[in-house]
Amino acid sequence: MDWVNFREIRARISIADVLARYYRIDNLKQVGQTLVGPCPVHNGDSARAFHVDLDKNLWHCFTGCKQGGNQLDLVAAKDQVTVREAALRLKRFFLDDDNPPPVVPAAVAATPAPASTRAPASVPQTAKREKPVNPPLDLELQLLPDHPHILEDRRLSLETAQHFGIGYCARGILAGCIGIPVHDEAGQLVAYAGRRLKFSDAEDLGKYRFPKGFHKDRVLFNLHRALPEADGEFGLVIVEGFFSVMALHQRGIRSVVAVMGSELSDHQAMLAAKARHVTVLFDGDPAGSIGSLKAVEKLEPLTRVHFVLLPPNTEPEDCTPELLHWLLKGAREHSLSSVAIITQPLSELGRVTPTETVH
Ligand SMILES: [Zn+2]
Repeated sequence: MDWVNFREIRARISIADVLARYYRIDNLKQVGQTLVGPCPVHNGDSARAFHVDLDKNLWHCFTGCKQGGNQLDLVAAKDQVTVREAALRLKRFFLDDDNPPPVVPAAVAATPAPASTRAPASVPQTAKREKPVNPPLDLELQLLPDHPHILEDRRLSLETAQHFGIGYCARGILAGCIGIPVHDEAGQLVAYAGRRLKFSDAEDLGKYRFPKGFHKDRVLFNLHRALPEADGEFGLVIVEGFFSVMALHQRGIRSVVAVMGSELSDHQAMLAAKARHVTVLFDGDPAGSIGSLKAVEKLEPLTRVHFVLLPPNTEPEDCTPELLHWLLKGAREHSLSSVAIITQPLSELGRVTPTETVH
C-alpha cells in the first residue's frame, strides 16, 4: 500500500494548483482571494455555483452538487474516488519526480474509477478532517433578558431579546456585559459576544468583546435564522451590528445578518452569496459608507446586490418600519445594482423614531 501523508500534500499543493495544473480549468473568475465560476464537479453552467477560497484552500458548490471541502475532497468528488486515492493522484502528479505526470490529466479525471475504489455516497463536508475555525461551544451562559439596556436603551421587546437569546450576564468572563450568542451558518453556537455596559470599559476596551481565538470574519451573525427567510421581498439584508439585526427583526424584517463590524470579509461575502439577492444596509457614517461600497464590490460577482446609503449619523435602527421598507424596496426596484441615497436628514422626512444614540 502506498504511504500517503494528507497533511503534507495539502501543505504543498494548493487548490489553485489542482484547478489550474491538474485539471487545467481556466473559466474561474478571481475576486480578491475567491475564485468563482461554474462547478467543475457537477459540470453545471451556473457562473456563480462554484466558490473557492484561495487562502483557506477550500471550495464549495452552491447549486448542483452542493459539495465542498479541501483540495483532496475536490479531486475525490470530481474523479469519483476516495480521499486517499485523490491524495495519491495529486502526489503522483505534483510530487513524485520518478512518475511523470499524465499528459492530459483531465482525461484521467473523466475515466470512472473502478467501483471498489469509489468514494462512499456521503459527500465530503467542508474541512471535515480539520479543526473547525470556530468550533462549537459546549457551554451555556445564564443571561437575563429583562435588562434596562435591552428594554429601554435599545427599545427591544422581551420577545425579541428571548428570540436572540441575549441578556445581561452577572457572572463569569462576560460579567457586567450583555451577552449575545453567536451561531455559525449551521446554527451551532460558536461564541458569546459581550456588549460592555460600563462607559469607561467601553471607551477603553471597545464596546464589544469577543472570545479569544474567535474568528468573526468567518461568521455572519444570525445567518442560520435569516437565510431561510431570504427569498422574501428584501433578500438577505446585511447590517453592521448585532443590535441593528434585532431592531430590524422587531420591525418585521427577519432576513437580516450582521458582519459584526463595518467590513464584510471575503468569507462572509461567500456566506451571504448563498442568498439570491442581498441588500447592504450599513450605518450612515464614513466607516459604514466605505464598508458598504467595499461589500458591494465583493458581492457583485457572487450574487445580485443592492445597497442603501443612510444619511450621516443614522443607523438602521433609527428608521421606522415604514422607512425601512421604503428604503429596501427602493433599493430593490432598480434593476441593476444601485444606490438609494437620501440626502436630507431623516428627521426632515418625518419618518424617524427619535432615540438616544446607544450604538
Ligand atoms: Zn457542483
